[in-house]
Amino acid sequence: MKYVILIGDGMADYPIPERGNRTALQIAHTRNLDFIAINGLCGLARTIPPGMTAGSDIAILSILGYDPAKYHTGRGPLEAMAARIPLRDRDFAFRCNLITENEGKLEDFTGGHITTEEAKGLIDELNKEFGGNCVKQGCECELTFYAGIGYRNILVIRYRHNSLSEEKESSFWTDGEIGSAPPHDIVGRRIENYLPTEAILRELMLSSKDVLDRHGINTRRRTCNKNKANMVWLWSGGKKPVMPPFTRLYGVQCQGSVISDVDLVKGIGRCVGLDAIDVPGATGYFDTDYKAMAEYALRSLEQKDFVLVHVEAPDEAGHLRDIDLKVRTIEDFDELVVGTMLEGLEAKFADGDANADANANANANANANGGYRILVLPDHYTPVSVGTHTKEPVPFAIYDSNSDSYARTQIEEKKAAGSDFSFGFDEQSARKSELGVLDARTQELMRLFLNKLGTQINADDKDQHG
Ligand SMILES: [Zn+2]
Repeated sequence: MKYVILIGDGMADYPIPERGNRTALQIAHTRNLDFIAINGLCGLARTIPPGMTAGSDIAILSILGYDPAKYHTGRGPLEAMAARIPLRDRDFAFRCNLITENEGKLEDFTGGHITTEEAKGLIDELNKEFGGNCVKQGCECELTFYAGIGYRNILVIRYRHNSLSEEKESSFWTDGEIGSAPPHDIVGRRIENYLPTEAILRELMLSSKDVLDRHGINTRRRTCNKNKANMVWLWSGGKKPVMPPFTRLYGVQCQGSVISDVDLVKGIGRCVGLDAIDVPGATGYFDTDYKAMAEYALRSLEQKDFVLVHVEAPDEAGHLRDIDLKVRTIEDFDELVVGTMLEGLEAKFADGDANADANANANANANANGGYRILVLPDHYTPVSVGTHTKEPVPFAIYDSNSDSYARTQIEEKKAAGSDFSFGFDEQSARKSELGVLDARTQELMRLFLNKLGTQINADDKDQHG
């Protein structure tokens, strides 16, 4: 059995009055998503637990059944994992933005969209100045800056054991998330009001300005009328989360991969023991190579049994409050990711026995328990009317290639129930589900997807894995 999760970031939306009270998912032509909804099982899943911030890191941890309250220790460690930065158990990793500070205010959280090459020069300088020892006298930690992409960089604070400094900075060495406010949330505000409480971080951020402001790279930027990247902003830091491997968690004896066009999701994948596969052309923006992502996912399934594909673009359109763009990204996701996957899965894995016969020598084992199961969903809402993430439970749909009778029953029920609206993959259709709202973080969604989709499948799983 092959298991596939396809996540369109931020696809879920509110009804738009100017568009006949339809949502982006309802406006978009999505024959593949609709096929999965009509022939599969639909429902709603809560991916943002009460009291937590709506974001992809929280949502995707929940979807995979890792309670973010327990496992979310910040974006820093997840992105460090994605960048293959070695993290020891007691190391802290932070997101380190290169920002523009002007007259005490945070003017630009991207440091004027500083280029990766320029950022690397500034990061080298920070390592020369602060690398190795801590800024604080007598503190026993070691600082290392790692250049990333553009303004997005990483700082690792490595703790050298010393009881005195541990006492001094006891608030620092916690298991939770620490650091300043997310810089994109406080543009135009006074920096002094948002500095972190931890002395090490505060001093480092303030002294970074002396080093960066006068650097040649920034002098050149100023003469070209570009914003200087003249300060570091340290946020969403924490220790590497210790998470049980995904496949072991659910008793699925298989290996898996994650494909995403953003680092955060690759980092989550690596933390739970999945391979993060890099796909050329996966940009995380509207020009991302959707089809290549699906093709790499299909190829990974020749060796492994699980893959998660995450595409960022619909979320970006939601942030831009652009409904037409959002509809287009959903249609691209539907055609190029979901469509390509369905076609490939159908051709390669739909009938396990036939495939096993055809490839008896090479692939008998891989296909012995044939068929595939596919889950499609957004991670969270990014309504165009709001321009940022919101917390409502998201629609999901699961299709199982072996589960014909199950699907037929569902279709009959839907036909009976659906006289007043057209059924497809969307928020309204999902609300008609009798499943109620599943709580993703308690593994309700993953257990439904991996283990419990009808009794027939449970029996198959037992044969294979028991
Ligand atoms: Zn977003």
